[in-house]
Amino acid sequence: PFDVLIVGGGPAGASAAIYASRKGIRTGVVSERFGGQVMDTLSIENFISVKSTEGPKLAASLEEHVKEYDVDIINQQRVKGLKKSDFIEVELENGGVLKSKSVIIATGARWRNVGVPGEQELKNKGVAYCPHCDGPLFEGKHVAVIGGGNSGIEAAIDLAGIVKHVTVLEFMPELKADAVLQKRLYSLPNVTVLKNVQTKEITGDDQVTGITFMERDTEEVKHVELQGVFVQIGLVPNTEWLDDSFEKTRFGELIIDKYGSTNVPGVFAAGDCTNSPYKQIIISMGSGATAALGAFDYLIRS
Ligand code: FAD
Repeated sequence: PFDVLIVGGGPAGASAAIYASRKGIRTGVVSERFGGQVMDTLSIENFISVKSTEGPKLAASLEEHVKEYDVDIINQQRVKGLKKSDFIEVELENGGVLKSKSVIIATGARWRNVGVPGEQELKNKGVAYCPHCDGPLFEGKHVAVIGGGNSGIEAAIDLAGIVKHVTVLEFMPELKADAVLQKRLYSLPNVTVLKNVQTKEITGDDQVTGITFMERDTEEVKHVELQGVFVQIGLVPNTEWLDDSFEKTRFGELIIDKYGSTNVPGVFAAGDCTNSPYKQIIISMGSGATAALGAFDYLIRS
């Protein structure tokens, strides 16, 4: 069996693997796709000490760094369950079972898509999901934010300080964001809020050129020309495969303590699949390191 088995090969998992392996304990990483969300990222400018890089390039260096150590990398395997017996058993979709004394869950998250024409085609060509990451790319431009919940309105307020104009599109007749956020939003001069509208299409060939939406009460279809669309309708943690013995937030994020431990002894978690309030590469890496050190502490005590 492994001493530490990490599920997920994104920034959190890679960092956990390096920290664990440096303790001289038997470490494995099982992941569906090494690199995680970083593989879908075009430019990264907030990974501190690296002024600018590209996602696939960072993912390759993550893998290279992990391979410097004696870590078993089990790639392209999807995990479907976790069971406790003498060891912790991690069940793979292909029927295999991996046994370990401790497990670090680092399965990340995925942005919920709006599912309209143009969204997939124009990803990274004006369609964005992370205002902290991509906001500065739209300096002086007109952008839309889809979603009027807390994350959408926070994004709109954030973006309004950088871009020329922000149009918020909310499907429901009212915004769902907290009142303080709404008040702040409505105080800004360069924001338009459209409520009760359904996004129909994100237009553009090579780059986003606009957004088409329908006013739900009149069914009138309208188009606004703009250069960017931020989709903010939720970040879904990849934790569906874990049963009710795990404590999760109402969004499905694993609840961890300051050592990265979940409520299940010997099972730790790190990165975007946890209740960490901010989902970023550098933050995931930090929490991966914490979880590995937490797991090591657990192992020497049990
Ligand atoms: P992830 O990167 O999501 O990795 C999860 C890992 O788990 C993957 O290897 C995946 O294959 C694996 N996995 C999931 N489920 C299973 C399963 N059931 N079985 C096996 N393996 C599984 N952050 C920044 O700091 N700067 C940026 O500029 C930036 N830009 C971004 C742009 C885009 C388009 C996106 C989508 C995100 C961006 N982010 C950025 C956010 C950043 O990518 C994430 O915060 C970070 O990748 C989270 O790391 P993680 O290791 O927790 O999870």
